[in-house]
Amino acid sequence: MGGGGRRSGGRGRRGADLEYAVEISLEEVLDGKTMEIEVPRRETCAECQGSGAEKGSKKKVCESCGGRGEVRISQGFFTMRQTCPRCGGEGELIEKRCPECKGEGRVKKVRKLQVKIPPGVEDGSRLRMTGEGEAGQGGGPRGDFYIHVRVKKDKRFERRGQDLYAEDLIPYTVAVLGGRVEIATLTGMTEIKIDSGTPSGKILKIKNEGVPAFGVPDRRGDLYVRAQVEVPVKPSRQERELIEKLAAERGDPVAVKKGFF
Ligand SMILES: [Zn+2]
Ligand SMILES: [Zn+2]
Repeated sequence: MGGGGRRSGGRGRRGADLEYAVEISLEEVLDGKTMEIEVPRRETCAECQGSGAEKGSKKKVCESCGGRGEVRISQGFFTMRQTCPRCGGEGELIEKRCPECKGEGRVKKVRKLQVKIPPGVEDGSRLRMTGEGEAGQGGGPRGDFYIHVRVKKDKRFERRGQDLYAEDLIPYTVAVLGGRVEIATLTGMTEIKIDSGTPSGKILKIKNEGVPAFGVPDRRGDLYVRAQVEVPVKPSRQERELIEKLAAERGDPVAVKKGFF
């Protein structure tokens, strides 16, 4: 052991990982979301630079292990080596503890962290921010910060990968004759062409109105809308007369309202 200080192998202890859960809406999946969160975490003590020793005081060699960081214990014929319980393998002890961190070398602080959720994130994703966890000890590296992302269920759209699925009503007149209708997308309304003779249940594809691929904002999936032909529940008197004429023309066996004539 040259100089007699730290144990060979481990250079300090790594800081703990931290986890945080966020919930975003389906709309926010489109462009991603940047948010600032407050995280309480252990930081290297500025007073002692993480040494845990009071300013001006020095560390002394641990007398239990003589600075080797490990001790030998004999059991019968065997001699085992064990990490020194007194100094925790450091090989040295603090003479006077830092009053700020009480010798731990770290203090709890609330830090503001800017979290960037990329576009196209999937529900249940776990994002890692390397080195944003707790500070290490004795020169050890920092832990990581993990963000669990929940995407709220949307009432109108069902997401399957990058594609969205929805249902929309189209007037029966348009279903028969064709025309143009407004369809709800994730960001607003868009007008699409309906062919004449469109049956109820037909799937209408609207390109690029889905959500993007993870981290690729300009590559979006498609929106599939199941067209439901809207049948009027309470037609007006005029509308009813027209439909009855139409039924007579076609010879359809419709029920004629009693007392109409
Ligand atoms: Zn300190
Ligand atoms: Zn020791």
